[in-house]
Amino acid sequence: MNFTSTILKKYKTDILIIGSGSAGSIAAMAAAQGKYKVTLVERYGFPGGTSTQMLDTFYGFFTPSDTPKKIVGGLPDKVVNELNKTGDIFLRPNTYGAGTGVNYNPEKLKQIWDQLLTHKNLEVYYHTTLVAVEKIGETSVCIFFHKGIGFFSITAKRVIDASGDADFCHWAGIPYEKAGDMEPAQSMTTSFRMANVDLEAYEKAGGKKMLQERMTEAYESGSHPLPRKEGSAHEMCQPGCISTIAVKVVDLDPLDLEQMTQAEKEGRRQAFVFENFFRAEVTGYQNVKIIGLSHQIGVRETRRVYGEYRLTKEDCMSAKQFKDKVFLCGAPIEDHRKSDHGGSETLWQYVPDGDSYGVPYRTLVPKNSMNTWVAGRCFSATHDAHASCRSMAQTMSMGQAAGLAAVLSLDADQDAINIDIEKLQDSLIRLGAILQMPDKVADTSRNGWVNN
Ligand SMILES: Cc1cc2nc3c(=O)[nH]c(=O)nc-3n(C[C@H](O)[C@H](O)[C@H](O)COP(=O)(O)OP(=O)(O)OC[C@H]3O[C@@H](n4cnc5c(N)ncnc54)[C@H](O)[C@@H]3O)c2cc1C
Repeated sequence: MNFTSTILKKYKTDILIIGSGSAGSIAAMAAAQGKYKVTLVERYGFPGGTSTQMLDTFYGFFTPSDTPKKIVGGLPDKVVNELNKTGDIFLRPNTYGAGTGVNYNPEKLKQIWDQLLTHKNLEVYYHTTLVAVEKIGETSVCIFFHKGIGFFSITAKRVIDASGDADFCHWAGIPYEKAGDMEPAQSMTTSFRMANVDLEAYEKAGGKKMLQERMTEAYESGSHPLPRKEGSAHEMCQPGCISTIAVKVVDLDPLDLEQMTQAEKEGRRQAFVFENFFRAEVTGYQNVKIIGLSHQIGVRETRRVYGEYRLTKEDCMSAKQFKDKVFLCGAPIEDHRKSDHGGSETLWQYVPDGDSYGVPYRTLVPKNSMNTWVAGRCFSATHDAHASCRSMAQTMSMGQAAGLAAVLSLDADQDAINIDIEKLQDSLIRLGAILQMPDKVADTSRNGWVNN
């Protein structure tokens, strides 16, 4: 579509970041450390993407092992440190085994992101959606829609696509694999939060074990039409409140208008099926009510761009290290999918010996695209590798690397793929990023977070 006649305003920037999720927000913070003008656009009215729309736990900071290691650092630490200042985090063992999670207050996180995104080099536009890319090359011209001013353009020297769905790459004609085309796509989940839980009574009655038994019983007997027999309900920073990852919506395409509408409705319907189940069957939950549904249904994967390198399951499972690694990941493959018998299941596969793999810079650089990076869940990986490398400590690390890389490429006037990798790794380490597995075992007790 030609938008030229409808463009009402034209802006220019040096580094443009699409999407203020965990990847995009950190990319903007990293890019703002240079001397360039950085612009971050977000379709919703608040930052954080999935981190604030539906979740409350950062996974991926620690390896899942009896001797856990902290393997992510730098700007992601800064986010947690800020939350820690006001008592808005605690460390929590993972229900199924993704390692210790950093639980946070997602409403506070919105404000922390706002605060961290306030910088003289950085312009943030909310309620602004990328709808087209008119040119890509030495500079890219992106078209946005804001309901107040209509269509406007931003011309950028460098673009970081952190939209989750790889919208920039899609509109720019950069090749990608769409989840579901080659292997079943991971399911979607509407998270919900409930108040008025008697956690003491719940723990006394068996806690997590009791919950899983009752869920399985209800699922198998059909006493409550639950979509799955497993799921997490965990305490939040807000006293007496719990948050869930329990809803499961399968076989619907998040990039299809009708199917995504149906998915949103189905996710909400299931949430209230769960509310009835909790009130009727789970000790300590007799008086609960849902106090919030996620802003939108959670989407685990859509488009995965073909990059200069594609991370594979073999890379993850052999704890492979790459010369151009820009962060570490020790998370297991956690693949939420529909099972053969129509129900649901999650497939788990661990990196051996509690180890971690290094993620190459080239997974952030779309093939033959000059001045573009991808960061976050649209990075270049196969379905399995993506199912391991998608926790938020890792998506934040992608943003950190992409943001610094964009600055270096402007400094040296080089394309994304030609930047000096050692310089990038030095800049990452200076910021506090971790590129070698540490020897030290981390303190993952409830109050074990140490400000970095
Ligand atoms: C159900 C579910 C449970 C999960 N559980 C956990 C967990 O407990 N812990 C964990 O660490 N990870 C978890 N993950 C994984 C993790 O949350 C995601 O992989 C990660 O948050 C993705 O971050 P992102 O920045 O790439 O994308 P997103 O968080 O999706 O951010 C993309 C941003 O771009 C914006 N955007 C999209 N399109 C446009 C456009 N065209 N124009 C402007 N803005 C746009 C979006 O509004 C959004 O803010 C879970 C994921 C799901 C779906």
